[in-house]
Amino acid sequence: MNILDGKEVSAKIKEDIKVEAAAFTAAAGRKPHLVAILVGNDGGSETYVASKMRNCELVGFESTNIRYDVEVSEAELIAKIQEINKDPNIDGLIVQLPLPAHIDPDKVTEAIDHRKDVDGFHPINLGRMQRNLPCFIPATPYGIMLMLAHYGIDTAGKHAVVVGRSNIVGSPMSILLARNSNPGNCTVTLTHSRTKDLKTEVLRGDIVVAAIGKKNFVTADMVKEGAIVIDVGINRENSTETKSGFKLYGDVDFDNVAPKASWITPVPGGVGLMTIVGLLKNTLEAAKGTIYAKG
Ligand code: NDP
Repeated sequence: MNILDGKEVSAKIKEDIKVEAAAFTAAAGRKPHLVAILVGNDGGSETYVASKMRNCELVGFESTNIRYDVEVSEAELIAKIQEINKDPNIDGLIVQLPLPAHIDPDKVTEAIDHRKDVDGFHPINLGRMQRNLPCFIPATPYGIMLMLAHYGIDTAGKHAVVVGRSNIVGSPMSILLARNSNPGNCTVTLTHSRTKDLKTEVLRGDIVVAAIGKKNFVTADMVKEGAIVIDVGINRENSTETKSGFKLYGDVDFDNVAPKASWITPVPGGVGLMTIVGLLKNTLEAAKGTIYAKG
């Protein structure tokens, strides 16, 4: 069993981003700039946004966190997004999900200029990804592809089983793995809560991507000997054992699945760190105007 080490890969890629950010700053006279909007005070969202901001500083980006009270109206939020869309000194904009129930996440996502949509959630970016055109790829699937590429894992012809079909993880992951690219060229099965006999489906996977949101959901009896196992899940549980007061668990029963796997990502220390890298790479591309020309 080998570990797909998010700590090591993310550190290496962030060093490269830092060098490119410095070159951009020297040429443009300003740093790449990411704005993150956070609505309310959900504990998980606060942690994610703080980590994104911290990582921006680390690689030499400017970062701005705009916070709104949970009662902010949809109209006020969208007006702010439109203002940021027009600001030439802001390259990337993300709105941390989930949003409170009175705000339509689809309206918010579509209000963001797709050229600043570094989360890659806008329908234009998703459509372009499907067609293998230059675009911002959703950060988590992008990070996973970077990790597979880093370890030189040959995915061509393999059967990949993705568990979970969300717009931000499972569905884009299934598209990327099926694309005619490297990594990619997999035969993909996309499963969800209505899948019949999930265990039989997952057992077919040479590659298994678990993005469900349920602690230890993928057990050893569901995984083929030698499979490559990617655990996207982040399940927080209160704990007296840690300083933060909580502990993170993946969607995969790591202790029992790892001995059967050829490669596996740990939680924490796996996909979560690569998601940040995906976001940073998208922001750098947005600043450089390599995917969409500036202006
Ligand atoms: P969603 O809740 O949006 O989607 C979960 C998916 O799992 C759905 O498609 C759902 O099916 C499916 N599912 C739920 N129960 C079952 C079941 N019993 N059998 C089969 N499929 C099931 O979650 P996300 O995709 O947003 O996130 C998934 C996990 O990944 C979470 O733990 C989240 O915290 C984590 N995450 C981690 C990130 C990282 O950086 N590491 C980034 C983003 C998310 P259906 O569609 O039928 O309801």
